[in-house]
Amino acid sequence: MKAQDAFDANAEVALRLGAWWEANARDLPWRFGRTTPWGVLVSEVMSQQTQMSRVVPYWQSWMERWPDARALADAPKAEVITAWGRLGYPRRALRLQECAQAVAGQYADELPQTYDALTALPGIGDYTASAVLSFAFGRRIAVIDTNIRRVLSRVFVGTESRGGAASAAERALANRVLPKDVKRSVTWNQSVMELGAVVCTAKNPLCDACPIAHDCAFLKAGRPGLGEKRTRPRQRFQGTDRQVRGLVLAALRALPAGTSLERSKVEQLWKDHGQLAACVASLDDDGLIEIAKDGSLSLPQG
Ligand code: SF4
Repeated sequence: MKAQDAFDANAEVALRLGAWWEANARDLPWRFGRTTPWGVLVSEVMSQQTQMSRVVPYWQSWMERWPDARALADAPKAEVITAWGRLGYPRRALRLQECAQAVAGQYADELPQTYDALTALPGIGDYTASAVLSFAFGRRIAVIDTNIRRVLSRVFVGTESRGGAASAAERALANRVLPKDVKRSVTWNQSVMELGAVVCTAKNPLCDACPIAHDCAFLKAGRPGLGEKRTRPRQRFQGTDRQVRGLVLAALRALPAGTSLERSKVEQLWKDHGQLAACVASLDDDGLIEIAKDGSLSLPQG
């Protein structure tokens, strides 16, 4: 394909995707300018390992309780961990609070608007910084997550994207196809990501319902190796440390505020006491729980 042809094809894809986005975007509460940049950042951190539709009730009650960085910065840790509920990977909750403390303390409660300043905040990596710059501040920047990588690779290269970190080629592709117009670049990021979440999914892409099926190199090639190189292999959960850590935290969250779970009750949570002890130690290392001298556990009292 000549360079000009590629540009024209890309402009067509952007138009079709933009129209599809207008008609089909899910009405999530942090979209369409209805929240602050801080609210967008919270939604992105919560969605990193959790489906957006599951995030909605957590995000809503979180933002009601702590509408800005300063409010979250001052919240007791135990409340923050409890409010994170079943979103998973609870270290993210404490990192988000550290981020809130930095924003409140260093930036007078306003999120900074540069990539370097955002990625210097605790827990904020390339993806979240780019998403906040694009979605909250309307800047032109390529947003690169698993969904976007999968869609771009399928549409423009005709192959599945590989797992692991984004390759240099994937980053180059994302930058090359990003519309030059600033407003269109925002719609592009949102619509490619949304297509990857609801239509061009990893295992069962709904090509019959896809607005850009006509332009898709992967479909034209007969969907070679569909799902083979899934960008995120499904992880076994049963019996993992993640499950055990989740059980311990769930038990502590269920306690009345300020109380602790005595050792004999902790030991009833999981049969394999070696694994249980390792998980309790790792939760302690992560600052998610406190261990008293008598072995009872509680959420952090700070
Ligand atoms: S045609 Fe199929 S593989 Fe191609 S972008 Fe659409 S859903 Fe994905």
